[in-house]
Amino acid sequence: MKLSVVSPVFNESDSINKFNEELVSELNKNNYNYELTYVNDGSTDDTLTKLKSIANNNKRIKILNLSRNFGKEYALTAGLINSEGDCALSIDSDGQHPTALIDDFVSSWENGSKVVIGVRKKYKSESFVKRITSLVFYAFFNSLSKQKLIEGSTDFRLIDKSVLDEFKKLPENERITRGLIDWIGFKTTYIKFNVSNRIGGKPSYTYSKLLKLALNSLTSLTPAPLFFFGIIGLVITCISFVIGLAILFEQVLLGDPMSWNFTGTAMLSIFILFLVGIILVSQGILSMYVAQIHTESKRRPLYIIDKENSIGFKEK
Ligand code: UDP
Ligand code: MG
Repeated sequence: MKLSVVSPVFNESDSINKFNEELVSELNKNNYNYELTYVNDGSTDDTLTKLKSIANNNKRIKILNLSRNFGKEYALTAGLINSEGDCALSIDSDGQHPTALIDDFVSSWENGSKVVIGVRKKYKSESFVKRITSLVFYAFFNSLSKQKLIEGSTDFRLIDKSVLDEFKKLPENERITRGLIDWIGFKTTYIKFNVSNRIGGKPSYTYSKLLKLALNSLTSLTPAPLFFFGIIGLVITCISFVIGLAILFEQVLLGDPMSWNFTGTAMLSIFILFLVGIILVSQGILSMYVAQIHTESKRRPLYIIDKENSIGFKEK
């Protein structure tokens, strides 16, 4: 079997040599027939020079050099699309994904898993803010979206060639690699691991980048937030409609036998609330159309067939 390893690299001058040594010795130890692709995502330090000398010393190592910094999702995509192995493993190049686990990933694959996902164990030294925000994000996302995200699941994953082939067909521009692989499906195994410290350098995911990633995950994987306000509007309209009707009968038509004494301002407020509700509802309806465009515009395949476990299936 041939194992493709893909690792995105952005300004990892401090870590890349040590990481490469660790990775290659792990791959050699297990006697894998491997190809290793480093995707240089527009590094601005001397990462590329270091990568080139690494590749010059090892024929199995390839470098994909992106023309600028596109971001990790795109670097990973580029690496995966150009992989030719029977399975492909993606791993961060900063040393945070322990190479010692690669053997476990491959064993799971050999035992029939098509997707093997590294799940980060709770990281004690993670800041309070980061823990709270990630908790809130997962709770919010999973309550809204039909496609669930597993907390702590990472890009440290191995996918079978059949999954990779499907991945290559997904054309969307705004993409989260993890979300797409989750969407593809097939038999999945999770492997828990402790995140190591970076070998050197510093993480390039700032809070603002993380926020953008969170919002992107939400909008690219589910249109549910669009409906949220429509539903609020519906509730407001229904409640104010009932109150308005009660006022109309009790006070305006029957002359206030129960002495509710609604002032003109109060009646006006109820009326305005009713209209606000209607506006929100109409926005919600509009959102349903936008959501359809959103889904259509991605041009994803309607379904994916597990050929290996189908009988009599012929590809057209
Ligand atoms: N990375 C990349 N492009 C970027 C940012 C990061 O290819 O624009 C790579 C980086 O070199 C590393 C991996 O993606 O191998 C994860 O990045 P980082 O360590 O900054 O993120 P974190 O570990 O916080 O998720
Ligand atoms: Mg990292």
